Amino acid sequence: MTADRTDNRSARRVTIEGIVQGVGFRPFVHRLARELGLAGSAHNFTGGVQIDIEGPPEAVEEFVRRLPDEAPPVSVIESVRAETIAPTDFEGFEIVASRAQASGPIFVSPDVSVCEDCRRELADPDDRRFRHPFINCTNCGPRFTIIKGVPYDRPRTSMADFVMCPDCRREYEDISDRRYHAQPVACPRCGPTLRFVKGSEIEHGERALRAAREMLLNGEIVAVKGLGGFHLAVDADNDDAVRRLRERKFREAKPLAVMAPDLDTARSFAVIDDAAAELMASPQSPIVLVPRAEADLLAESIAPDTGTYGVMLPYTPLHILLLQNLDIRALVMTSGNLSDEPLCIDNSEARQRLSRIADAFLLHDRDIFIGCDDSVVRPTARGPITMRRARGYVPFPVRLGSEVVPLLAVGGHLKNTFCITSGRNAFMSQHIGDLADIPALEFFERSLAHFESLLQVTPEGIACDLHPDYLSTRVAERLAAERDLPLVRVQHHHAHLAACLADNHERGPAIGLTCDGTGYGADGTIWGCEVLVGDASGYERFAHLRPVPLPGGEAAIDEPWRMALVYSMEALGEEFAEMVRRSEHAGRKVIVDMIERKINCPLASSAGRLFDAVAALLDLHTRADYEGQGPMHLEAIATRGELPYEFGIEREDDGYVLDPLPAIRGLLADVNALIPRERIAGRFHTTFVMMLAEIASIAARERDLDLVALSGGTFNNVIVVEDLMDELQRRGLRPIMHQSLPPGDGCLALGQAMVAHAGWR
Ligand code: ZN
Ligand code: ZN
Ligand code: FE
Repeated sequence: MTADRTDNRSARRVTIEGIVQGVGFRPFVHRLARELGLAGSAHNFTGGVQIDIEGPPEAVEEFVRRLPDEAPPVSVIESVRAETIAPTDFEGFEIVASRAQASGPIFVSPDVSVCEDCRRELADPDDRRFRHPFINCTNCGPRFTIIKGVPYDRPRTSMADFVMCPDCRREYEDISDRRYHAQPVACPRCGPTLRFVKGSEIEHGERALRAAREMLLNGEIVAVKGLGGFHLAVDADNDDAVRRLRERKFREAKPLAVMAPDLDTARSFAVIDDAAAELMASPQSPIVLVPRAEADLLAESIAPDTGTYGVMLPYTPLHILLLQNLDIRALVMTSGNLSDEPLCIDNSEARQRLSRIADAFLLHDRDIFIGCDDSVVRPTARGPITMRRARGYVPFPVRLGSEVVPLLAVGGHLKNTFCITSGRNAFMSQHIGDLADIPALEFFERSLAHFESLLQVTPEGIACDLHPDYLSTRVAERLAAERDLPLVRVQHHHAHLAACLADNHERGPAIGLTCDGTGYGADGTIWGCEVLVGDASGYERFAHLRPVPLPGGEAAIDEPWRMALVYSMEALGEEFAEMVRRSEHAGRKVIVDMIERKINCPLASSAGRLFDAVAALLDLHTRADYEGQGPMHLEAIATRGELPYEFGIEREDDGYVLDPLPAIRGLLADVNALIPRERIAGRFHTTFVMMLAEIASIAARERDLDLVALSGGTFNNVIVVEDLMDELQRRGLRPIMHQSLPPGDGCLALGQAMVAHAGWR
């Protein structure tokens, strides 16, 4: 307390915002302070950590400098602010209890896959957590899925009911320990336990694990409770078993993800380059779409129509124990649900809903508070495409270029996610799925309540799609009425454009190439291959694909042969219609009749339907089991670098029209000439790319722009993305694709929020 001691000391108050809670940040601060001989204190507040640090001036400066650089691997620092304060003559360094704060965004960590240290302990017979299926530390383990509220402390997680044993308690309280304040910390003595259930047969612990492994070896289906929900597991080399799973799950052809015990084993059936390997082994451990190997493939029914497998590595200790030395190359690990329903997360719910699918259950008693699917990413030459953003990434926000009003955007209909904005952050929900039924709607509402309580944000407005019949629109209308908030309706493809700009920290204006299945157009017709020029504040529909009738509306999506018929008629005219009428095809005659008499034939300018038509013309699919099946198959067989077919770009009253009919005529001629369909598929891809590149060039010239934003489900197609990005660059344009969000409708909510914000006053 002497005056001359404080004279030689300086002090700083450092405020750090970001994901710095529950990730070992305070112990790290403590170690750094001790190493530099500094005194002070640290405490968590709702948006981060605040540190008062004091000592010799040079050491204080070094502390401030090293803090962001050496932070723990799982932390994400959003901002560091250091202000000078008066030294208070601290002795030593102390961690002060958490304080709640009234406002400001709260950052919660995503779930993190098991870290190297924990993997080592899991395999060490001398460690007290040897083979403990719930081992974790401050650097890894469950977070988002077990947190009920903030600040993040054990009583507010689903670990609240597990009383720590003295050993765990000591580690939890020892600031020099890797498990200091690791909220899910546990050990075999005090932590969650495994339970195997098959009919009336019940096993616990190691015996439960052994029983589940035996079932899997026998080709039986086991429902396994994981991190964000249940998986249905079955031997991926056993075609009969996989087919049985498909039958019971009512999932005919949609690809099934697999989990391999390690990279080497995965390489026996898939081609995994460095970029894919890095993604698979990352703390996020997503499902990575990778090309199949030349030989030694998995069961045929895993992914019937694609050239890829969705592969992930074990990301929890339970998965590691389940797969190691099992003598199975990979397990199918598909979502534990009935076809497209949300994931099961609860033991009793799973045992009801999955009882007709699973032969047995591997359960545990650590509750999952909120469901979170596996994320799916696809590497390209231009960096990974996120196809589904959930576990490992959510709830980490998309950072925005500037501050935004607190808004709620409810997203679209398919592959729904919602978005809550706060400050410079857009918090995207985990993948909710198709908002088509009550269970999906319940999952949406539960997740929304979860986000609102975690983030402590009160939205001041709501944004939704223009489509009057989407369930998401209905929810938005109800919430706006209940909360007395303004509601903004945003055109689907405008939202795509705005989302892509925000995802790239661009303001625009830009040329938006937005290509997907269907979106409700501003003129009431169906849009889906749109060239929009604009930014979040507005757009001009500069060009679009020539609209064609969708015979039967939605039915045309499930039955791509209808689209093949439509495009053949459009391309060949009356001659073709006459041919169908003279034929024996009753079904086709009905459709031709519908088209000619314009009965139940809404007009659509959809890229997805054009790809569907081509897939059907090449006889790949006449019916679709899921949206995108035809296009995916088309991509899988296409040879790269083929020459384009002829196409048209015509100036009409309402802008330019992209005309694929000359290409369809060329394609039909190739089919008749028995050109291999791999080459035809390749030529079609090149045509589509050149058509978009050409219209982008025209827009760039006429509107004096060079930024081109790619958004929409069509850009899940690697050939289209890589070739189009290259071609646009060759033309001197500046193409951007999505960075952290999916190009498909999983990005819509962000775009809706940005459009609503742009029009805010
Ligand atoms: Zn760990
Ligand atoms: Zn313990
Ligand atoms: Fe879309």
